[in-house]
Amino acid sequence: MSKTVFYFGEGLAEGDPKRKDLLGGKGAGLAEMTSLGLPVPAGITLSTELCNAVLAENKSVRDDAGVRDAVLTALARIEASQGAKLGDPAKPLLVSVRSGARASMPGMMDTILNLGMNDAVAEGMAKKTGSPRFAYDAYRRFIAMYSDVALGVKRELFEHALEEARHGVARSRGIDTTRYNGEELRRMVPDSELPAEDLRKIVDAYKAVVKKATGKDFPAEPRDQLWGAIDAVFHSWGNHRAIVYRRMHDIPDSWGTACTIQSMVFGNLGDTSATGVAFTRDPSTGEKRLYGEWLPNAQGEDVVAGIRTPHALSAAHAGGSEKETSLEVKMPEAYKAFVAVAEKLEKHFRDVQDIEFTIQEGKLYILQCRSAKRTGRAAVRTAVEMAKEGLITHEEAVLRVDPSAIDQLLHPTLDPAAPKKLLARGLPASPGAAQGYIVFNADEAERRAGQGKPVILVRVETSPEDIHGMKAARGIITARGGMTSHAAVVARGMGKACIAGCSAIHVSYEKQTMAITVYGEDGKPNETVTLKKGDLITIDGGTGSLYEGAVPTVPAGLGGEFGELMVWADAVRTMKVRANADTPLDARTARGFGAEGIGLCRTEHMFFEEERIAAMREMILSDDEPSRRKALAKLLPSQREDFIGIFREMNGLPVTVRLLDPPLHEFLPNDDKQIEALSVTMGVSAEKLRQRTKDLHEFNPMLGHRGCRLAVTFPEIYEMQFRAILEAALAVSKEGVVVIPEIMIPLAISKAELVKMREILDVVKLEVLGADSKLAFTFGTMVELPRAAVMAGELAEVAEFFSFGTNDLTQATMGLSRDDAGKFLPAYIESGILPKDPFVSLDQEGVGALVQMAVERGRKTKPNIKLGVCGEHGGDPASIGFFQKVGLAYVSCSPFRVAIARLAAAQAALRAKAQS
Ligand code: PEP
Ligand code: MG
Repeated sequence: MSKTVFYFGEGLAEGDPKRKDLLGGKGAGLAEMTSLGLPVPAGITLSTELCNAVLAENKSVRDDAGVRDAVLTALARIEASQGAKLGDPAKPLLVSVRSGARASMPGMMDTILNLGMNDAVAEGMAKKTGSPRFAYDAYRRFIAMYSDVALGVKRELFEHALEEARHGVARSRGIDTTRYNGEELRRMVPDSELPAEDLRKIVDAYKAVVKKATGKDFPAEPRDQLWGAIDAVFHSWGNHRAIVYRRMHDIPDSWGTACTIQSMVFGNLGDTSATGVAFTRDPSTGEKRLYGEWLPNAQGEDVVAGIRTPHALSAAHAGGSEKETSLEVKMPEAYKAFVAVAEKLEKHFRDVQDIEFTIQEGKLYILQCRSAKRTGRAAVRTAVEMAKEGLITHEEAVLRVDPSAIDQLLHPTLDPAAPKKLLARGLPASPGAAQGYIVFNADEAERRAGQGKPVILVRVETSPEDIHGMKAARGIITARGGMTSHAAVVARGMGKACIAGCSAIHVSYEKQTMAITVYGEDGKPNETVTLKKGDLITIDGGTGSLYEGAVPTVPAGLGGEFGELMVWADAVRTMKVRANADTPLDARTARGFGAEGIGLCRTEHMFFEEERIAAMREMILSDDEPSRRKALAKLLPSQREDFIGIFREMNGLPVTVRLLDPPLHEFLPNDDKQIEALSVTMGVSAEKLRQRTKDLHEFNPMLGHRGCRLAVTFPEIYEMQFRAILEAALAVSKEGVVVIPEIMIPLAISKAELVKMREILDVVKLEVLGADSKLAFTFGTMVELPRAAVMAGELAEVAEFFSFGTNDLTQATMGLSRDDAGKFLPAYIESGILPKDPFVSLDQEGVGALVQMAVERGRKTKPNIKLGVCGEHGGDPASIGFFQKVGLAYVSCSPFRVAIARLAAAQAALRAKAQS
């Protein structure tokens, strides 16, 4: 292993800030800030490689003499730089030990603060700072955190002693504690008001808790504490919530986390000390303004945990009386220093920064900075504005926005004209409108959502344990916490609507209700509404508003900065983006999103409507050609009308029409009523139809009588469809519409099949168009079976284009049923056997290899063969990157993903350019 221990401090950093893979995002950021000369407390970063080694061998870092010595040498440098020593009561040094992976995983792994505390050090700190309250508060926080993270003692076990002390203080102030619940008491007597004597007792009580739970004394030797903390932080890479988060964000397990040990500075040394978090631009809207929150006399965790609701940073952005509590007003010097640092950091990193700071007795320290997590809306706005400010190029702006994140922009918002009853307002933590039934815990959210019910998760505050419920819910509301609380940060990352710090709601988990004090126009409370589990509510995370019932929504608009970004994206994109659309309305929607053609019109979808499905069933159940033709004749006019509508919408753009590919089971009658009705229209006995349905039953319909196999046995089906296409094309071209039809054969496996299909079509062509029509069309096939990929060289002798049907190709290549794999695939992904769901993101190594082979073989036969993809993967950003690499001409995806695909295709083109 190469170097694993990296010191930073006093303007010098051993680690290379570019090596996030090694130092983690946090470690790299600290190295970089140190080198920039910013006020960063000294520290050490242990590499992700070391984490992986520790986890693989299940050992302790202290077992490796080399690492141990390197840590102790670097620790001596921290001690020298701070003029303090770990464990020295006269000059105590305390450190934080934090996790930090390559990608930000807020709150998912563990952190320990105030390490180095023991009885003697606490006493020394009390003397040195003149504040026993501060020293014992730090000590008791340390015991609780360390015990939870490194010793596996549950946090709740420490609550009792703390609450007992709080009750005592409350009673001494004449408060009748029986009249208030825990939350109300915490507001009346915050932690910061517990006196030193009580804290001392709490420390003793905490130590007793540890002894009882572990059978051992709490470790008093700071070096023992240090090794235990490092091991625990490394191991927190493997905890449940971190794993869930990695699955959701496609973070590989192999990355590991780095561990940073850093000299502590204190925001809770009294009223001249403070702590806060800030974003250099608004992470929710993207507006250019310093946006942040702070708390006087507090530690960093207080801001993030949402236990106290923090104040605004800048006076200009604090509402009403809040101005007075802004950092700008309370500590103008520190505020000014911070503004300068924030500007410097944003300019240096050329991106929006999320900065954690602490002010210790008036002096500002920067603890962390990283690229800020932001909503899709904010990502677009900041990228476009930074490009206009000249901070980044247009191309960089295009690369800055995660294509999946713009999904949020494409979602509906509340209909402004709809009547609605506003119940309460909280912080607009993550935009989007969501309606759902109230649930009060994460497990229930997951269960209800699993049953197909939309739910809104309502919590006093959320913690990383709630992540599965947040994922399942449509939206989240918390009663406590700020814009950087767990709920806010995680919801933004997930693109979920979220209201945080909605203090008008009073949640009772016990009664499963929330009581809401509703305020009138005059700002006075005028009623209390109590909602219970299962009641419907609507939230607007963009404004922080909570409404009664289900409020109607309106579709998203695509103009403004988003439009500008898409213009830049389209300018660099080399692949076209088409849509999968089966109706004129779909086609119009797709064009609205910028689709450059239809890549897949699934004609069987046109037959699901009530009247048509009857004719379709009639056709399928007919047992001779004349009856089949009779049923087909009924389908022809509606089929032609559909094509007319689609061709008109797509005037001037190509439309790939796939001929019928029905897995038959989707169309067979499934109850007696349907059979009776059919028996009347067809003039055939119900008994006979029942028998015919049985005969048609297939054990494996996906590998059965579908695709062009249907036309091999019943050519008249494709004849009818092709006639409908040509007649529609003729009709609209007479109106001046430019039609570019592409006829696509599904599920082919051989050249002979395609030759036969072409013969069927040529007969119809002659009949409809005559010998020398100007109306042109192209003839191609889907490549959606492994044999088709292997035989692509021969297929290309007949086909003018290939469209990869990666849904079937994945199913057939992996032997995974599209309909049934949902039952066991999650276990494959959770256990890491497969990195992702292969039906969502292309299995590039396996299925992708077949795509690549078909591309090469097809091109060898026909160098100009047109190549595209129309499986669901055509809308998946990672797969789009692959399709760019293999050189496809276009991707085709659902209309709502077209904008995402345009951006992803632009990014793929830019990455390809950078590599060449
Ligand atoms: C495919 O198989 O990828 C495809 C687009 O066809 P369908 O999903 O209709 O089978
Ligand atoms: Mg298919």
